[in-house]
Amino acid sequence: MPTLFERIIQGELPANIVHRDERVIAFRDIHPRAPTHILIVPIKPIPTANDVTVADEALLGHMFVVAAELARREGIAENGYRLIVNCNAHGGQEVYHLHLHLLGGKPMGPMVLV
Ligand code: AMP
Repeated sequence: MPTLFERIIQGELPANIVHRDERVIAFRDIHPRAPTHILIVPIKPIPTANDVTVADEALLGHMFVVAAELARREGIAENGYRLIVNCNAHGGQEVYHLHLHLLGGKPMGPMVLV
């Protein structure tokens, strides 16, 4: 079964896409937890952070470059923001296609919310 994010990548589901290149897509989270809440998603379907390999090092670096560029574009770079990767049940992962949350536009509060 393709994940929700694979369906967005394939154009089968709508999304508010803010960036796309040959390696990553970025779109606004459908349930934003902050004024800026963007998901940076590799085109390659890596299920979780546990599945990352040495072969993915450049891809993961590219996700951070895109996140920093989007933060600048959103006007949140100077005040700051939070980048989050959730993994499996205890990490609160809902969609099993690796993604980086870019959250900002207000103080993000304590690092761990329970
Ligand atoms: P995670 O808990 O890290 O797996 O985060 C998954 C995120 O995907 C959640 O913040 C959801 O709000 C978001 N999400 C789920 N479905 C969609 C969708 N169709 N478009 C955009 N974001 C979505």
